[in-house]
Amino acid sequence: MAGKAVVTGAGGFVGSHLVGRLIDEGLEVLALDNLSTGNLRNLDEFRDNLSFSFLQNDVSFEPIKVKGGVDFVFHFASPASPIDYTKLSLETLKVGSYGTHNALNLAKEKGAVFILASTSEVYGDPLVHPQSESYWGNVNPYGARSCYDEAKRYAEAVSYVYEEKLGVEVRIPRIFNTYGPKMRLNDGRLIPSFVSRILLNKSLKIYGDGKQTRSFCYVSDLIDGIFKLACSDLRGPVNLGNSKEFSVMDIAKFIIELTGSKAEIEFLPLPPDDPKVRCPLLDKALNNLDWKPKIELEEGLKKTVDYFSNLQS
Ligand code: NAD
Repeated sequence: MAGKAVVTGAGGFVGSHLVGRLIDEGLEVLALDNLSTGNLRNLDEFRDNLSFSFLQNDVSFEPIKVKGGVDFVFHFASPASPIDYTKLSLETLKVGSYGTHNALNLAKEKGAVFILASTSEVYGDPLVHPQSESYWGNVNPYGARSCYDEAKRYAEAVSYVYEEKLGVEVRIPRIFNTYGPKMRLNDGRLIPSFVSRILLNKSLKIYGDGKQTRSFCYVSDLIDGIFKLACSDLRGPVNLGNSKEFSVMDIAKFIIELTGSKAEIEFLPLPPDDPKVRCPLLDKALNNLDWKPKIELEEGLKKTVDYFSNLQS
């Protein structure tokens, strides 16, 4: 496929995998990132590729200027882990609002398809389980997680207006928990946290009783869904993730078993607004995108643990 894609947040976990897929598909990629939670190391493998260029840029501050044609604008810039968005709460609100405006304006100017990285967090602490795209969510607008949840809800709302009133073609993957290589060991998300504790020979911390469930999607499955959605004409938000649910306790035990570790499990109080259940209903993506998640948790965890172990050595 010929053409050009702009990716905001390209130095992050998901953004850097997306860059790889877009280059593999034959696209030229302009990667933008302010490196607040991302890392240039994630993009090292593309540095000598003629289809790749990188610009250190904060997309919240000013209009995004790009020479020549652009076919896709992927807006993936945003702190995404609770540790990051708690520390960078104002920046998170800004990149969801000003940053989304700037990315949408670029798509409008170039006649490009706009793809917004939304999130399952728009469902908040859901009262309906599993969550389909038609569920409007149960979100606290005034609390610890609100900067992220509401920024993403705003980003969806403004994308809707640009689509309806200004004619921008919009695609919205609502991304559920994703994991894999290129995450940061210390980003506080469940799988890297467990692996890092094991690599440090420390006990695994579980918040609450560990019965809360999560679903986990391996990153290559997510990227496949995002690429297919970007190339489709499927409008409205689309859940992407893996619908197999595991309790947090199961995941801990799984990683302990996989690594042959003797780590103990420590229980701590549940943080405020922590969702008790979160699992996608994937019918919209499954029925419209010739896509389904393929990587089983065991295989994905092995690849992820190998990546983190190699980083340490
Ligand atoms: P990440 O923190 O690894 O990547 C985010 C990237 O955005 C980082 O490289 C960061 O430096 C960059 N960034 C942040 N603010 C910026 C700004 N103002 N200008 C330019 N760059 C900026 O997070 P991730 O897990 O890769 O998430 C990527 C996107 O996917 C985010 O929008 C996130 O909300 C969404 N998402 C991710 C998950 C997941 O499980 N990983 C789940 C739901 C949604």
